[in-house]
Amino acid sequence: MQLMTPMEFFGFEPGSDRTLADWQQMLAYFEHLDLASDRVKLTEMGKSTEGKPFINLIISSEYNMKHLETHRQNQARLADPRGLSDEDAKELIRIGKTIVMISCGIHSTEIAGPEYSMSLAYSLAAATMPNAEQILDNVILVLVPSLNPDGHQMITDWYRLNLDTPYEGGVMPWLYQKYVGHDNNRDWYSFTQVENRLTIEKIHNEWHPQIIYDMHQMGTTAARFFIPPYVDPIEPNVDPIIQQEIIWIGSAMAQELTAQDKKGVLIHAIYDAWNPARAFQHTHGGIRILTEAASCKIATPVTVKFEELSTGIGYDGKVRAWNFPEPWTGGEWHLSDIIEYERLATEALLTHAARNRETWLRNFLQIGRKAVNRQGSPFAFIIPAGQRATDSVYRLLRIFHIGQVELYTADRAFTLNSKTYAAGSFVIPSAQPYFAFAKCLLEIQEYPDIREYPGGPPQRPYDVTAFTQGLLMGIETVTVTEPLDVQLTRLTDVTPKSAVSPRTDASCYIVDPKLNDGFAFVNDLLQNGFRVERLTKTIETKEVVLPAGLWVVPTQVGLTKFMLAWAEKGLVITPWENGLPTCSLQPVRFGLYKSWTGEMDEGWLRYVLEQFHFDFESPSNEIIQAGNLIEKYDALILPNMMVKRIQEGLPESMVPAPYFGGLGEVGAAALKEFVNDGGVLIAIDHAVDYAIETLDLPAKNLLAKLPPKDFFIPGSLLRVCVNNEHPLTWGAEKEEPIWFQRSGALSIDEGTVLAHYPSSNPLLSGWMLDPQAQLNGRSALCEIPMGKGRIVCFAFNPIYRAQAQNTYKLIFNAILSAGIK
Ligand SMILES: [Zn+2]
Repeated sequence: MQLMTPMEFFGFEPGSDRTLADWQQMLAYFEHLDLASDRVKLTEMGKSTEGKPFINLIISSEYNMKHLETHRQNQARLADPRGLSDEDAKELIRIGKTIVMISCGIHSTEIAGPEYSMSLAYSLAAATMPNAEQILDNVILVLVPSLNPDGHQMITDWYRLNLDTPYEGGVMPWLYQKYVGHDNNRDWYSFTQVENRLTIEKIHNEWHPQIIYDMHQMGTTAARFFIPPYVDPIEPNVDPIIQQEIIWIGSAMAQELTAQDKKGVLIHAIYDAWNPARAFQHTHGGIRILTEAASCKIATPVTVKFEELSTGIGYDGKVRAWNFPEPWTGGEWHLSDIIEYERLATEALLTHAARNRETWLRNFLQIGRKAVNRQGSPFAFIIPAGQRATDSVYRLLRIFHIGQVELYTADRAFTLNSKTYAAGSFVIPSAQPYFAFAKCLLEIQEYPDIREYPGGPPQRPYDVTAFTQGLLMGIETVTVTEPLDVQLTRLTDVTPKSAVSPRTDASCYIVDPKLNDGFAFVNDLLQNGFRVERLTKTIETKEVVLPAGLWVVPTQVGLTKFMLAWAEKGLVITPWENGLPTCSLQPVRFGLYKSWTGEMDEGWLRYVLEQFHFDFESPSNEIIQAGNLIEKYDALILPNMMVKRIQEGLPESMVPAPYFGGLGEVGAAALKEFVNDGGVLIAIDHAVDYAIETLDLPAKNLLAKLPPKDFFIPGSLLRVCVNNEHPLTWGAEKEEPIWFQRSGALSIDEGTVLAHYPSSNPLLSGWMLDPQAQLNGRSALCEIPMGKGRIVCFAFNPIYRAQAQNTYKLIFNAILSAGIK
């Protein structure tokens, strides 16, 4: 079969003005390459969130393609060099290939990468790329044309729909990934989204690439093209070799672009390398090269004047500097310009990978050797057995399992620092290939205090500052600071053990309210018409403590089947004799407000609610504005979004009808009426400000107007004190970590405070600037009565990117509280 260029195949050049290939077309072209070239192998890794084929292409010389499996195995030997002799290592380096992964389009509006991926694949298949022979012989490339095929299709559809209208190239008013939109690249350790899980399991864990090139785009007035090195801070568990490699290859790419007369190339600016949620590779022996090209309007060109070029951390778009040797002069900027920069960057990267093959492999081996020979403290981490939140323990183990961290269980009980750990406690010893991944997720983050200038305001981190999983999940983890002498057994299956089958002849069954899985269980019961009750106050006897909020399920016809299914999944359901003081629950009809502004936190919350079997609607503006909401709903949730976005939505100049506008005054009045009629309104994080302003809450956000130099917490874990004898906080401890990200702190004139900041420093992990102790004693969670209803205010984010699993129960409780009779 004749190998065709994209132009020959489609009749147009991808990247031409106002022309895009959609996902269907791209798939067809890659199938063509797979059939027509022995250098290309197309694999479907699985299906995307919305069921599209999710693919990669392996590209190398014909000879390498015939020996792929051998190369894969050799690479695995280098990745885990335990037991590898010097002689064998030398041979593996002699015959090995640099493994490069190139990924495009995780952010679907950054569309140049996917469009370019077709000519990239062609130029290697046809060996028309400069240095093609050398690259094909020395490199095995794994190309992911789109890390988000659903979004690629949505964006091309939306773009085509609005061509030749005032909205051409404009904003799409919903998320380009079903649940999480742009946050899909803040998920590289949680692996909540299927595309990310498949990429880790089917590419990283199979191929252990040394170089990962991830193509992105930024704003139109920024520098034309950013290439690493990154700015400080670098996450401290990243091997220094990785840091040097990033500088090494990044500089080579930048040099090539400038040598080819491409202006506006920027290094060492804007982007830091702190949050592992964006860089799985950095704790797995590989480097992440992020490039960020200035955008046009999808495929529609823009004109940017020189005076409009903006500034950012580490650069001024108009001023020559050591890291920005040739500012762009302004002018027209086309999709084809972006692709041209990306093409040169890619060719420089692949050439570097090919020419320096031995060094890339030697360094990769060296990083692995340092990891497996690791000595000193910490010697291990322990996740003690017997914790209440067993479901979260297994969720954490699953993260480590996907990240190829080796997990063990203790054969017997053991004592460490005069504390005894039960047999079956989970242990992560330090001398193993990917301990760095576990360590950065388990330790406390100490984010450095970085200022814009000495004594000046804080320099905004690129993303959040904390990721301590024990705090996010509400589970105890222990850092082992002395050698551990315990008999261990390797754990390979991280599915929870089936709980002992409950007796089926008791008068009722109880489940711990701390467990997130308990909510899914209860939702299943309520939706199937079973009776469910909750304990109304803590009962303490000599033998047992039954916490307030405990789920109490009276024996009913047909219950056994449900209970056994859940016990099978590891949920501990205990038979009990009734006579407990309880309240009963009714199913709650509720809605999660969905604006036409594409809110990621709405998506994350929707994702989490679905995961825990909540049944709900997503009312948009017109449904809220129609009023009489009490007829439809018992509770409504306003997700975390800025006040103006709730009130005004997007303007008519940005999106066509019916998508412009927000709740407006009509929507606000309808919400007020809903609460007065007896509804429960749950406002999250910035939506609390909306409730205060619009519904005249007797409350103030005391942080609302503070400048960053007086108060700054850009994504950290803080401690709050909890009144846990209340339906909203049932299942919580007396002190809990919460996620604070530019959030608020409340004082209320009426109502009940359910969680407040302590008078001592509340910082548990991350970065906090609060020189005047503004948080001291302020409320984080409260309930305010209004008319026959009430408003629940979460002045923090209880869901946070499906990571704050420990505080899920608070919002779950808030919803179910609307059904307490
Ligand atoms: Zn991006």
